Amino acid sequence: GNESCGVLLSDRGSSALLLADLDVRLISFDLPPEGVRLQGEPFQCETCECMERKTVCKECSSECGYHVVKACDGCLLTEEDNGHYWFCLHRFVTAEPITKLLCDLLYNGSDERGPLCAETLEKVKPDWICLICSDLLYRPYQTPCGHIFCSGCISREIDGRGRCPVDRLPINRENISFMKELYEQIERETEVHCVFGLSQEDDGTFIHCPTGCPAVMKLNARAEHHQICSFRNSSEDSDG
Ligand SMILES: [Zn+2]
Ligand SMILES: [Zn+2]
Ligand SMILES: [Zn+2]
Ligand SMILES: [Zn+2]
Ligand SMILES: [Zn+2]
Repeated sequence: GNESCGVLLSDRGSSALLLADLDVRLISFDLPPEGVRLQGEPFQCETCECMERKTVCKECSSECGYHVVKACDGCLLTEEDNGHYWFCLHRFVTAEPITKLLCDLLYNGSDERGPLCAETLEKVKPDWICLICSDLLYRPYQTPCGHIFCSGCISREIDGRGRCPVDRLPINRENISFMKELYEQIERETEVHCVFGLSQEDDGTFIHCPTGCPAVMKLNARAEHHQICSFRNSSEDSDG
């Protein structure tokens, strides 16, 4: 959360140390923290050639950390490149440990929506499936070359190679556009199972579990159902 206003910035941070200065404690993110926005022009890092931009809290505009817009060759070669290009500094933000491991978070950032089962994905229109993550598009963005990906998926491509994975054309945060109408249509028309009716297979995919919640609803009604779902508590008990 942000120290100034206490707003929750993200729930997918990992702790890290700045290699150049081991006293600077950081929280790193694989996807842009929801609660921050970029501010100001890119500048060069004090200790290397990386180009960075400041991130500030969306609510109160207080400083949170930075985003590595372009990693320098030195950093790409020497650091373990874990695909984390977003950082919050402990002097600006507070962090609470969560029990989830980063590998349990959904690749495209759709943890709030929750996972979908294979049966649902089979019924979805092929152009609603993201070519990067093979999941139903989550907060879709369109590239200037006309390709559509989840916000989390396209964000990783911008941070990594800066090119559309389909045709290699250059993409950046300024030339992609949020497909609001498509997103709302997907949420309105896709029929899904309750999250407490799914179980995860060894390969990471989800199936509908006969002993779980049998409820089926449109995606835009799912969160509301989860609030009142009678399978919610039993599932949370067995988790912990
Ligand atoms: Zn660097
Ligand atoms: Zn704030
Ligand atoms: Zn995706
Ligand atoms: Zn493209
Ligand atoms: Zn349910």
